Amino acid sequence: MPGNNNFEVIVIGGSYGGLSAAMSLGRALRRVLIVDNGLPCNRQTPHSHNFITQDGKTPKEISALAKEKVTQYKTVQFYSGRAVKATKKDKGFEIKTESGDLFYSCKLIIATGLKDLMPGITGFAECWGISMVHCPYCHGYELRNKKTGIMANGERAFHLASLVNNLTGDITILTSGKADFKPQQIEKLNSHHIKIIETEVAEIEHQNGSIKNVIFRNGNSESFEGIYASLPFTQHSDIPVSLGCELTEHGYIKVDDFQNTTVARLRLRG
Ligand SMILES: Cc1cc2nc3c(=O)[nH]c(=O)nc-3n(C[C@H](O)[C@H](O)[C@H](O)COP(=O)(O)OP(=O)(O)OC[C@H]3O[C@@H](n4cnc5c(N)ncnc54)[C@H](O)[C@@H]3O)c2cc1C
Repeated sequence: MPGNNNFEVIVIGGSYGGLSAAMSLGRALRRVLIVDNGLPCNRQTPHSHNFITQDGKTPKEISALAKEKVTQYKTVQFYSGRAVKATKKDKGFEIKTESGDLFYSCKLIIATGLKDLMPGITGFAECWGISMVHCPYCHGYELRNKKTGIMANGERAFHLASLVNNLTGDITILTSGKADFKPQQIEKLNSHHIKIIETEVAEIEHQNGSIKNVIFRNGNSESFEGIYASLPFTQHSDIPVSLGCELTEHGYIKVDDFQNTTVARLRLRG
């Protein structure tokens, strides 16, 4: 990238969070560099929902429009590539990219998001965001009145069932092991005709990410049109931790009320 490589702020991660941060800074005439390698967590989902004015658009359409709006501000530059290292300097940060480019800034914003960790179930990853979803508010409307699975156990499964119950009357909870519900919860699930299958899930049969059947370890199978699952996650980038950012017990970057991380001059945008 030609020109001066010194910026007031570098934003690592140029998806929705990073672009929003850069817009505010661009409008304040700050010299900003966004570094992004184009792998947002929702990239596989065919349509995004519940985002006012953009309902039903693809993730790419939304971020392309956001990028177009943000880069209209002449003090904002966009660099396509992965930041591989960040080093604290006396007056700020040095950022190194995969291609070896070096950039400097007084302040750093981390907007690298989270990475969902896929279970080792054949076919699961291919369906993630398409017919295997995590959020009834984002995708429940599209799965309304459909034969729906909930791949979870205990409190998480019960909570999801209570939300999804409003969207469809055909719910099966797939616990992949002994069901872990309190007697009152079982009573409630029964009263809503919510079924439970405890046999371990071995495979998701699908066509281009659209679930057809869940295959269980005992060889049985059951058809579904959509499944909710809640996945563990990790930070998408190890840069914040390498700079010394503390994480919360749940794995989020620890911030104060102003989004300051535990490292001076380093903020979070997510
Ligand atoms: C499957 C799925 C479907 C979803 N559907 C919806 C929906 O319908 N509606 C809704 O409101 N929300 C939805 N969400 C949630 C939404 O996608 C997230 O809230 C949103 O993407 C978070 O934005 P972000 O900018 O924090 O992170 P992300 O969008 O994940 O972006 C992080 C960016 O940082 C970049 N990056 C990471 N590390 C580096 C690095 N080292 N160097 C350079 N760049 C880096 C990545 O490439 C990426 O572009 C969905 C999420 C998932 C997983």
